[in-house]
Amino acid sequence: MNYSRELHSLQCPKCKHGMEEVTYQDITIDRCTHCQGLWFDGDEAQQLRKIEGSETLDKGKSALGRKYDSVEDINCPRCGRTMEKSFHWKQTHIWYEICREHGIFMDAGEFTDFKFETLMDLFRGVVKGKR
Ligand SMILES: [Zn+2]
Ligand SMILES: [Zn+2]
Repeated sequence: MNYSRELHSLQCPKCKHGMEEVTYQDITIDRCTHCQGLWFDGDEAQQLRKIEGSETLDKGKSALGRKYDSVEDINCPRCGRTMEKSFHWKQTHIWYEICREHGIFMDAGEFTDFKFETLMDLFRGVVKGKR
């Protein structure tokens, strides 16, 4: 997947403000300058989840994110089609919007949840495995 990022900056699918590019260890994602929601192209969320410290990209307050969580039907910032609401198979309290072709949008605070709760699950799994 190779998008020309110079041509246009993304518009936040939630609040329609502009998004800025933020890079962490060679992975560049887009963060809304207003609601701090995060857009991940393709599997960037999965890649970043494995990188230590990547949650610093998710600097928004989850309270702010929740405020925007109620916005219905958002459109993919890449193709404009309505995105599906989905949730992580283990973390059903974390909802995110997904375009199967382009990527995932998470509200502020959700990536941090997504990352750490998955790690916790992993640790629990390890502990259980030793018994
Ligand atoms: Zn926004
Ligand atoms: Zn799309």
